[in-house]
Amino acid sequence: MTGEPQADCLFCKIVSGDIPATVVRETDTTVAFRDISPQAPTHVLVIPKAHYPDAGSLAAAEPQIAADVLREAAAVAAGDKVDGTGYRIIFNTGSGAGQTVFHAHAHVLGGRGLNWPPG
Ligand code: AMP
Ligand code: ZN
Repeated sequence: MTGEPQADCLFCKIVSGDIPATVVRETDTTVAFRDISPQAPTHVLVIPKAHYPDAGSLAAAEPQIAADVLREAAAVAAGDKVDGTGYRIIFNTGSGAGQTVFHAHAHVLGGRGLNWPPG
């Protein structure tokens, strides 16, 4: 796995600008944009620009970029002012866990009560 863009990947198309998104933060290695179907007042996806199918494979191949994703997730929470009340960073991994887009992404959820354990 090299991280090269995949022609059939929705999030690679957001990285390239071929599909529009409401971008809230961008770095050399990451993009953060609002989820199209928000499940909380703050629901932002943080993705690496490089294509890896899930968080674990990203971390194995590019640990610094995995750290960038986590740092940006915290910055999104601070930017939306949900860091004080608490927020959740989620990496659904595998279809059985609800992953539908196989380009690694962190969900940042906040702005409402968050039950534990999640469903
Ligand atoms: P997951 O189910 O963990 O793979 O998360 C994929 C997320 O991508 C879902 O929460 C979708 O609502 C979101 N999503 C799908 N298409 C778009 C899009 N074009 N722009 C923003 N978010 C999207
Ligand atoms: Zn991709």
